[in-house]
Amino acid sequence: MRKTLAAAAFAGALVVTAGTAGPVAAVGEGPGYGGNETVNTSILHTYDELVAELKTQDARQERLDLEVIGQSVKGRDLYLAKYISNPDNPTILYLTQQHGNEQLTTEGALEFIKHLGTGKNQGVLDGVNILVVPMLNPDGAMGDVDFPLEDYIASGGRHLTRYNANEVDLNRDHVAKVEPETRALHDNVMRKYGIDYMIDLHHQGAQSERDGQLVSGSILHPTTPNVDPSVLEGSKKLGAVVFDAIDPTGWGHLGKYVGGSAETISRNGIAVEYGISTLLFEMRGMSDHYREDYVLGQKSNGYLIKQTVTTLEATARAIADGSIADADTSFWDTLAEQNTRSE
Ligand SMILES: [Zn+2]
Repeated sequence: MRKTLAAAAFAGALVVTAGTAGPVAAVGEGPGYGGNETVNTSILHTYDELVAELKTQDARQERLDLEVIGQSVKGRDLYLAKYISNPDNPTILYLTQQHGNEQLTTEGALEFIKHLGTGKNQGVLDGVNILVVPMLNPDGAMGDVDFPLEDYIASGGRHLTRYNANEVDLNRDHVAKVEPETRALHDNVMRKYGIDYMIDLHHQGAQSERDGQLVSGSILHPTTPNVDPSVLEGSKKLGAVVFDAIDPTGWGHLGKYVGGSAETISRNGIAVEYGISTLLFEMRGMSDHYREDYVLGQKSNGYLIKQTVTTLEATARAIADGSIADADTSFWDTLAEQNTRSE
């Protein structure tokens, strides 16, 4: 039913706006979604395709170890891809898709893993241990959940949702750790490896702007008062490396995320519980949602996947060569909080 309506709206929009619609205003902003563009999930990796690709890379890459850290509510294996060259090296964890409908971060993480298998990245692996947990919420990503998704917007054979199969937001479960996905992360990753840094990768709504221009994403360090000052400083340096790698590009424009101090959120809770310097990175627009101002058409996929890959490669390199120690954190004092564009 929705597909029929969307198709009708699409045809109508072409008639009404032909000849009057200008090009998208700014480089890198990408098209939004106004009901007149396809949001199609079929081009994203399914869970099974993701696992197959991880196994292919594991077979190809000598330095990659693939580990199952637990199972989702619906019994899907949860994977950790790890590159541990030297236990004495600093270690960074990249976490994607706690929220199942935020998948371009996983697509980018998969690209990053492929790149780590190429010759030019071997030097990086000598200086940093890298852990990647891609798609922590595969049930939500596959729409295999115990609640209805019929009002979700995307077409393409499956819907993707924020919540796990029990309709729980995993990124509010980092204190209680009730859900199997959160428990697997804490028991078999957070407590098992001496992790120094973590970037938690998400997607936000599509209509956030900074200085009047739609953002490609937003970042934030821990904001709980309980975080150790040196841990917070590490988070700010991690953010500086990301900002310097993304914001000057033609397609990158970052705002400061507006977030609370609750320790149920990984950015806060993991920083306090383990003394890990965490950074939240929110990419623009979601792969699926029931809200039209949250989803983004796939014409933006290219630069958003690139934004993830660039972020992961820049931070891994800065930790490996030690240059993160010199990162200039002063931009945090002037970086404006993003606001939501009003129609
Ligand atoms: Zn999220």
